[in-house]
Amino acid sequence: MDNCIFCKIARREIPSHRIYEDEDILAFNDIHPVAPVHFLLIPKLHIESLADVQECHQALIGKMLLLAPKLAKEQGCDDGFRTIINTGRIGGQEVFHLHFHIIGGRERLPGMIHHG
Ligand code: AMP
Ligand code: ZN
Repeated sequence: MDNCIFCKIARREIPSHRIYEDEDILAFNDIHPVAPVHFLLIPKLHIESLADVQECHQALIGKMLLLAPKLAKEQGCDDGFRTIINTGRIGGQEVFHLHFHIIGGRERLPGMIHHG
């Protein structure tokens, strides 16, 4: 996808702080971290969102999920972390290239959703 910011990061047209890369997957630090550890795990293949994942992507998604705890540990998350996948308008997705947020640090993270 020509104008997709995460495809541009995968093609190295936009700089990022990469923490992992292989032929299928890339992980890089979020530009606006919400905790000491906050990186994004993306497939190099442009898939818009979790709602667009198809059966043919099953192995790729499985590979990403297997990788998540390994990378989290490498980044210093020894005692857990949070994985968030914002999907579509209601989910608050801003970048329409599938990404897993991996978030952690020393302190326990706050609750998921605050009721107003
Ligand atoms: P969302 O689509 O709401 O799940 O979140 C998109 C995330 O991408 C946000 O946390 C942004 O801070 C992050 N982001 C946007 N542009 C970049 C970039 N160039 N490098 C790293 N992270 C980015
Ligand atoms: Zn893309």
